[in-house]
Amino acid sequence: MKRKAIYPGSFDPPTNGHLDLIERGSKIFDELIVAILRNPEKDPLFSVSERRQMLESMTGGFDNVSVDTFHGLTVDYALRVEAQAILRGIRAISDYEYELQMALMNRKLQPGLETVFMMPAAKYSYLSSRLVREVAQLGGPVDCLVPELVVQKLREKMDVANRFGDTYAGAHDSEARAAERVAPERAREPKTQERKTKSRKRKS
Ligand code: ADP
Repeated sequence: MKRKAIYPGSFDPPTNGHLDLIERGSKIFDELIVAILRNPEKDPLFSVSERRQMLESMTGGFDNVSVDTFHGLTVDYALRVEAQAILRGIRAISDYEYELQMALMNRKLQPGLETVFMMPAAKYSYLSSRLVREVAQLGGPVDCLVPELVVQKLREKMDVANRFGDTYAGAHDSEARAAERVAPERAREPKTQERKTKSRKRKS
């Protein structure tokens, strides 16, 4: 029997870490499907078709890797495509708790399906799509973090955002607003802290 796995995720955008895992997975499975989750509740930077196009181009060199999209339960999709395993990446201990919960829940839902964890090369262990989006949105270099094609796509996105979003603001303001768009809670943190300190000062 052929060993078939799915590698599900958001891939917004796909990174060199994802690619590293795809390469490792392609060596231990006969067939690997990179499966982009279509999640209408998320507000992604790249559309599903943009992510699919980037992943197809990144994985073109692997004979046994294909790209697909799905919505709903991962285990249902895995059954539909007759995969026996779900491939997931573990970067650091911080990934472990969430991934373990998800793997155990998936096992409860579908006992015959195994989750296989793989670790990327150490140099990718700090890399996430969220960080790539943040760095790109603040104008930092992402060349070593994502393939060249994704660098280009990120540049195009940022150009559009700058033309239509931040044209009237100074560099400083536009940076703060970009940070707020990417991580609203974190961008607001210092202000909240500032307010707390001020109110504490007022009380004393
Ligand atoms: P999700 O939203 O499902 O976490 P991601 O696209 O962020 O989707 O990640 C998909 C899978 O790839 C997850 O298992 C995640 O742990 C793994 N992954 C993400 N970045 C890396 C990386 N740098 N190295 C190895 N695995 C990674």
